[in-house]
Amino acid sequence: SANRKFNPKNSVIDVKGTKCGDGNFIVIAGPCSVESEEQIVEIAKKVKASGASMLRGGAFKPRTSPYDFQGLKAEGLELLLKAREITNLPIVTEIVSINHIPLFEDVDVIQVGARNMQNFELLKELGKTNKTILLKRGFANTIKEFLMSAEYIMSSGNENIILCERGIRTFETYTRNTLDLSAVPLLHNLTHLPVIVDPSHGTGRANLVKPMAAAATACGADGLTIEVHNNPKEALSDGEQSLTPEEFEDVIKQVNKIREAI
Ligand code: PEP
Ligand code: MN
Repeated sequence: SANRKFNPKNSVIDVKGTKCGDGNFIVIAGPCSVESEEQIVEIAKKVKASGASMLRGGAFKPRTSPYDFQGLKAEGLELLLKAREITNLPIVTEIVSINHIPLFEDVDVIQVGARNMQNFELLKELGKTNKTILLKRGFANTIKEFLMSAEYIMSSGNENIILCERGIRTFETYTRNTLDLSAVPLLHNLTHLPVIVDPSHGTGRANLVKPMAAAATACGADGLTIEVHNNPKEALSDGEQSLTPEEFEDVIKQVNKIREAI
């Protein structure tokens, strides 16, 4: 169970030696979508040089509009594997269908996005694998519901779960979502699972990523996931919230200072 009562010790999730939880901090970085080999390889090299611990990139994209870029799909997964071969960074990518599980065999961390947080059949199937699952909070879900989704994966046999707060929907429109940072200490009280924060989707605005990454670190998050693009203005998805590699490096430096201070 995810419940702290049954496991008072903090869980440490180990992805090929990269650890998350109980004092181990991870930084997942990369573009919203994998767009080409040049794009993903260039970003992977740059975020690695700045200290990222894992590479993210969407291949199957759950877009609001069917007319928007839907991702490179299986080819996108291949390009992620190529970027991993070059940089050695473990890769994180989102799954949107139970039918795709076999395609994700070589992926290090499978992301379940906000839109699928309550896709219970998908959660149960992922519970039968031994993959690390990055479970993102749905944008209209309570913390209790979030924990129950983790419970679905765990009760099917897979305890390798990292939770991710990524903002919830409120009446506010200046930001894409309202980042619920109180979820971090609250979840740490309720569960032994590691909790990371996504300040990119949590705000939808590149200039808010640095302060929110800092705040997430200060309130005890076990890591961050940040969208980074080599040319945010031309990104095929989420350019408005994507950092340049230089901006990302600046965020990492500040996060590291805060980590030393707390
Ligand atoms: C993403 O990480 O690119 C994504 C789609 O996130 P979320 O599910 O949190 O919207
Ligand atoms: Mn995105």
